Amino acid sequence: MSNIEIDEKSGFCFGVVNAIKKAEEELAKGGTLYCLGDIVHNNLEVDRLEKLGLKTINHEEFAKLKNARVLLRAHGEPPSTYQTAKENNIEIIDASCPVVLRLQKKIHNKYNDEKNNNTQIVIYGKNGHAEVNGLLGQTDSSATVIEKKEDLDKLDFTKNICLFSQTTKPLDGFQEIIDIIQSRMQGDAKFEFFDTICRQVSNRIPNIKEFALKNDIIFFVAGEKSSNGKVLYAECKKYNPNSYFITTPSDINPEVVSKTASIGICGATSTPKWQMEEVEAKINEIRLGLN
Ligand code: SF4
Repeated sequence: MSNIEIDEKSGFCFGVVNAIKKAEEELAKGGTLYCLGDIVHNNLEVDRLEKLGLKTINHEEFAKLKNARVLLRAHGEPPSTYQTAKENNIEIIDASCPVVLRLQKKIHNKYNDEKNNNTQIVIYGKNGHAEVNGLLGQTDSSATVIEKKEDLDKLDFTKNICLFSQTTKPLDGFQEIIDIIQSRMQGDAKFEFFDTICRQVSNRIPNIKEFALKNDIIFFVAGEKSSNGKVLYAECKKYNPNSYFITTPSDINPEVVSKTASIGICGATSTPKWQMEEVEAKINEIRLGLN
């Protein structure tokens, strides 16, 4: 019996499944379909869709485009993207994840409500990440992005603070930021926070811990640009030091593969199942070559 297991709970989240389905449906209609930014943080899946005709463009290329069809990926976009589309006769195929759209709306409403109260809108997230850019756009780029606790010095604790989180940040990191802000608030300044972390990612943490603990060796498959891939891999490594981050089967170091150890294969919310299956095939191939 094989002692290699693919984690059933790893793989695309529903936001990514929906974006890829929309891309495939649109590509089937023929004509050119552009995608603003990588549809997923996974080069191999991007290559697969590009072979079907998808053309990935960046924001500079998008600004010059006219009379075209453009898919917006699950991360969402700021209002300026929709404005450019309107001006340049671009048909938008909006695959923004509904969870991200709800968060954008929440931040937008808060920004409008608090405009005259000197409230600092704060986003716990990664500077420059596409989702964070979309969130910043809801505040005319006036929100402050906090990546780590050291960044909190940017805030004025004598003024109101309203905190949100990028959907893929870890719950414990968010809680730590909340605790520090709470302890530093001064005078009558108000502090409000909204837990806007997507459970499609955070629920994977308890599962990945269990999976990492029950296997001797873990191969974690994800693209290098995947934020939640980094979070989930860190979790694997914490509970199983024999965890290896790989992007393709060729990254596997044959020296760490043994015939008898149980091997677990898991991945990020941007890792397709077919990629984990390819890793399984490669491990079997390496094992066949072992004495
Ligand atoms: S991780 Fe959550 S918010 Fe992000 S695309 Fe997936 S389902 Fe949507």
